[in-house]
Amino acid sequence: MSAYLDPEQKILKEQVDRWLAENVTPIINKHEKDCTFPFEILDELKNFGYLGGKIPEADGGFDLPYTTWGMLMESAGYCWGSLRTIVNITNGTIQKLSRFGTPDQKERFLKPMLQNKLKSCTGLSEPNVGSDVRGIECRAVKKGDHYVITGRKLWITNGINADICQVVARTYSDECDGELSTFIVEKGMPGYSAKRVEKLVLRPTGTSELEFDNVKVPVENRLGPEGKALSGTLAGLNTARVNIAMGAVGAAQSALDLSIEYAKTRSQFGKLIGEHQLVQKYIVDMTIRVKAARALSYTAAQALDRGEEAREDCSIAKLYATKAAFEVADMALQVHGGLGYAVGYPIERIFRDTKGGMIPEGTVEVQTLIAGREILGLNAIT
Ligand SMILES: Cc1cc2nc3c(=O)[nH]c(=O)nc-3n(C[C@H](O)[C@H](O)[C@H](O)COP(=O)(O)OP(=O)(O)OC[C@H]3O[C@@H](n4cnc5c(N)ncnc54)[C@H](O)[C@@H]3O)c2cc1C
Repeated sequence: MSAYLDPEQKILKEQVDRWLAENVTPIINKHEKDCTFPFEILDELKNFGYLGGKIPEADGGFDLPYTTWGMLMESAGYCWGSLRTIVNITNGTIQKLSRFGTPDQKERFLKPMLQNKLKSCTGLSEPNVGSDVRGIECRAVKKGDHYVITGRKLWITNGINADICQVVARTYSDECDGELSTFIVEKGMPGYSAKRVEKLVLRPTGTSELEFDNVKVPVENRLGPEGKALSGTLAGLNTARVNIAMGAVGAAQSALDLSIEYAKTRSQFGKLIGEHQLVQKYIVDMTIRVKAARALSYTAAQALDRGEEAREDCSIAKLYATKAAFEVADMALQVHGGLGYAVGYPIERIFRDTKGGMIPEGTVEVQTLIAGREILGLNAIT
């Protein structure tokens, strides 16, 4: 149990972990095999704060501190990387709607999202645009009472399942000359389509390529002011990094727990493998990484709770925790021998999914450069 939580948070964590172990863990293999996500589990998980945890109560949320929210992410990551991912991506839209949405948008989109009646995705990355979001090519051209959106988005989590997509596009109107704006595109709007992209990691999360072929989007679906999406998007990425870091801590803890159990039950050469010194070294190296990753992640969450921007802390937490989780999963696979490769046994999935934390919301390399910029005051990114 984490030393970073108060008694109330610890009780919530125990309840969440128990619910996840009883209701989600048993169905993971089926959904991994089918590449599907059981959205109905969010009907219950929303009551713990998994939908709207970070938005004000006035908007129907829980107004949780980042430490509690991070703890929920750690528990989700411990259970299943795809769950942590879907929750993260869903709450990205929820938070944007709460912060920038009009009363009409909150009624039409936010309210049903909080009730788990509407699924969303976020379209930022494109075939030619990844780390450098300033280079977005997707265009929105204003024509009277609507915008016409044209372009493609790639690697979009939940794209094939989403009822709405918050898409960031370069905007052209009388008042706006190519700055970025966010729009809510709704499933069924002519010209909007999503197709699944197969990939190594987080297979049930519905990763997609989106196409916008002259999609007519009414002005009332613009989310936030015209041409001002960049700062909101970058700020959102900063805090989302802590979510990924916390999820990585959970996944690493899960790989460590399985390894400790295995080292204490599997025997070779007439003794438990945990009695072999080299296996003990793996366990100790894994434990150090888990503890260090957790310390950095909660340090970042606590800084956000104090109202700090905490860019250095968020980037360091994300880059260290995601790398450490993959290293821990790698060692866990080694401790398990051939069993570690078996599809259906959790280590194989954790090994793949921990790799999935090192790229999205800013790669490990980009986090290094953000932290370097904060520490040195010198920019090496561009
Ligand atoms: C599991 C998963 C889910 C995702 N979900 C979404 C989603 O829901 N919505 C969305 O919009 N996107 C999503 N993405 C896309 C993700 O945000 C991008 O993959 C990420 O931003 C990196 O972009 P890229 O893949 O184009 O790599 P690139 O930006 O092309 O980078 C390639 C390599 O170059 C390095 N590099 C780039 N710039 C620099 C630099 N300045 N200095 C040093 N090294 C650099 C990178 O670190 C990387 O190693 C997802 C990706 C994954 C893997």
